[in-house]
Amino acid sequence: MGQIQTNSLTHLHCDAVVVGAGPAGAVAARGLSLYGKQVVLLDASQTTRQKIGESLPGAARPMLNKLGLLPWVEHLASLTNKGNLSSWGENKLRETDFIRDPYGCGWHLDRQRFDQNLRDAAVDSGTLLLRERLSSLSENDKGIHIQAGKFNISTQWMINASGSSPFVTGQLGAVRQKDAPLFAIYTWYESDDPDTRSVVEAAPSGWWYTAGLPDRKRVLAFFTLAELAKSLLRNKHHFISALKDTTYISKQAIQENISTTPLHIIEATAGYLKQAVSSHWIAVGDAAVSFDPLSSQGIYNAIYTGLRGAEAVNAVLNDNDRSLLFQYDNRIKSIRDAYRQEVSQYYRQEQRWPEELFWQVHQMGRE
Ligand SMILES: Cc1cc2nc3c(=O)[nH]c(=O)nc-3n(C[C@H](O)[C@H](O)[C@H](O)COP(=O)(O)OP(=O)(O)OC[C@H]3O[C@@H](n4cnc5c(N)ncnc54)[C@H](O)[C@@H]3O)c2cc1C
Repeated sequence: MGQIQTNSLTHLHCDAVVVGAGPAGAVAARGLSLYGKQVVLLDASQTTRQKIGESLPGAARPMLNKLGLLPWVEHLASLTNKGNLSSWGENKLRETDFIRDPYGCGWHLDRQRFDQNLRDAAVDSGTLLLRERLSSLSENDKGIHIQAGKFNISTQWMINASGSSPFVTGQLGAVRQKDAPLFAIYTWYESDDPDTRSVVEAAPSGWWYTAGLPDRKRVLAFFTLAELAKSLLRNKHHFISALKDTTYISKQAIQENISTTPLHIIEATAGYLKQAVSSHWIAVGDAAVSFDPLSSQGIYNAIYTGLRGAEAVNAVLNDNDRSLLFQYDNRIKSIRDAYRQEVSQYYRQEQRWPEELFWQVHQMGRE
């Protein structure tokens, strides 16, 4: 890769700026650097924090292999997920295993190590990583000018990999469409439970999830509407009492283990852009299309769109060939359509609490 041009310490010129160093951005930056492009990767956070979102399906195997990460994921940064247990639409707990899945078992990742490893791979391939927040941008007919901390960056192309936060998308003049509201209230705790399967249990005001993680940890989450999530965050006793009302999750998430661990809240509403590409930018990962965590599709989609997005931008930078960009945009639309059909069908399978607001909102699709 050629050196990134600098007029002074704070003025940079490059082929592409990737905003957001989550899985989508790190994979896209690495891809473009390997194509020989000058790439700056911006991320607002100073460190790679522990993040919720750990289930990666076995279908990601070929992509991980292509990235050279498969042995590392299989042996170091994950637990093998041998199956999913769920009580959904009925009181019984059913198991889905991966025996007939051609890709085999999936994984429960150590997200912090996984994300860090993808960032390291981008830097190793020549990407310049700046831990700065994009604060503003302006577009002209040659490209995009970005302000991030003390840096002024001029670039021909920008890859928006900033996740589901609306800020960067809004700066580009695009509007993120949102599905029915969904908030997660969650905690991590120490656990000696050797069962690595994930458990999902529907409840009157939402659904619960727990899964084993590497290093003898578990994650426990309750997905519900904003108001209830906020009130459970304020009162942990209520959270524990709601947990006790569950049939299966309460057995996995032994109450004593969570009495001292902090609760966190995060929005998990799915969303998408009507157009994932424009004259000088492309959106990848959650910034292009994000999913209900029930689907466990987010990380897979981040890696997939990071790879495809880098390929499409490379073709425009090389030969002004926009055909891959159009294909990419159509692919995002078809992913979104297939996902909507599947998730609507899944929520409609739960008919035990037709009078409950959570199920009414999610069975309608949007508030
Ligand atoms: C509760 C919950 C549970 C989930 N569970 C799963 C699961 O089990 N399996 C699964 O596959 N997916 C799951 N997901 C989804 C998954 O976490 C996301 O799909 C995935 O992280 C998307 O990756 P990304 O790179 O697109 O975005 P992100 O990982 O969100 O990364 C975006 C990055 O952009 C940076 N950024 C944002 N704004 C700026 C700015 N202005 N300037 C610079 N940097 C900026 C952020 O700091 C961040 O690092 C879950 C999500 C939630 C909320």
